Amino acid sequence: MPEAETRMPDTETQELTQQLKQQALQLGFALVGVTPAVSPSRLSHFHRWLENGYAGQMLYLENRKSAYEHPSSILDGCKSLVMLGVPYLANESQRQSGSEPEGVGKIARYAQCGLDYHDVIRGKLKELRKWLVQNCPGANARGIVDTAPLLEREFAEAAGLGWVGKNTLLLNRTWGSYFFLAALLTNVELHYDLPQQTSHCGTCTACIDQCPTGAIVAPYVLDANRCLSYVTIESPGLPAVDVAAKASGWLFGCDICQEVCPWNRRSQCTTDATWQPDPRSQSFDLMQVLSWRDSQFESNLKGKPMWRAKRRGMLRNAILLAGSQRLESACIVLAEKLRDEESLVRAAAAWALGEINTEYCRTTLVQAQTDELDKDVQEAIAQAVCRTATLRRG
Ligand code: SF4
Ligand code: SF4
Repeated sequence: MPEAETRMPDTETQELTQQLKQQALQLGFALVGVTPAVSPSRLSHFHRWLENGYAGQMLYLENRKSAYEHPSSILDGCKSLVMLGVPYLANESQRQSGSEPEGVGKIARYAQCGLDYHDVIRGKLKELRKWLVQNCPGANARGIVDTAPLLEREFAEAAGLGWVGKNTLLLNRTWGSYFFLAALLTNVELHYDLPQQTSHCGTCTACIDQCPTGAIVAPYVLDANRCLSYVTIESPGLPAVDVAAKASGWLFGCDICQEVCPWNRRSQCTTDATWQPDPRSQSFDLMQVLSWRDSQFESNLKGKPMWRAKRRGMLRNAILLAGSQRLESACIVLAEKLRDEESLVRAAAAWALGEINTEYCRTTLVQAQTDELDKDVQEAIAQAVCRTATLRRG
């Protein structure tokens, strides 16, 4: 599309931007701000973060490194980004933090409604795009949520939506940090908002101090390898043993660095019923998850955010959590998992049995040592056997 076609006089630009923002609000985007498409200023920070290995196994980040240099890699001729936020904290009871009883796995708040937010937000973005294309001749636009190579938090800050906190999440004075980020990229020049200039973290370090695994290695720097959100959702493998031992009750995701943030204590709840928690998605009984037949993982989780981890990931999470809680009632079902078809599940079971460390666990592990053919799992079993010899029973 020729550039001239998407340029308008200032007053028209302002009016179009205002109307576009109004549409976004009507569609349920509680936060909306507009910023020009430029190279992100913190690109070098992102590169250093990758070089330090903090991205874990998210190899797609490294593979698409150059695409992060400019939003035009996502939309040809991109001039503006409409940055959008959708809050998901639905009620006060959801705000309460605290530990679930032993044998229960917690689910991150964003997933408690049981809906895949990508699907919900994509629907809204489609409507917003349609409105822009219909109301601005020559307009092209693309909506994104999560999956495109864009430093979303930086552009959201530039659009005035909030500031990036020391926990690396975007914070807003009204909504705290319990909101999803999305963007509509367009070739249209719009009227731009002022960037957020100030951080309101001050001297607070609550998120850093209370992260159970030490994943926030410095203010604004997250080591995904140690982050329970990454470890339980994105990671294809097993975390380091000290991270697994500090699972802190989380079966899928982790909200601790948000729970302890003062900006989330008084943040507003959304009135959008879409995000109301579904009791069947708020927490899970570990013994039930460990006992599901293969087909039950799909029937119980398909369509929910938890399905992202698939059977192998959810089973790994449940096993590691049972191990971290030293759940003796899980020993028999964990012993069965030593014969699972997935090597990841067998290795997780070996670690968990080593943590629980009863006589039964030790005998089972020693037996499995002779049957196991996979080298990595053999190693996990050997380490577990070794630990059972040195750890005192709980
Ligand atoms: S999500 Fe949990 S593990 Fe990750 S940084 Fe926050 S508190 Fe730490
Ligand atoms: S807990 Fe404190 S330091 Fe961390 S993001 Fe919130 S305000 Fe900032």
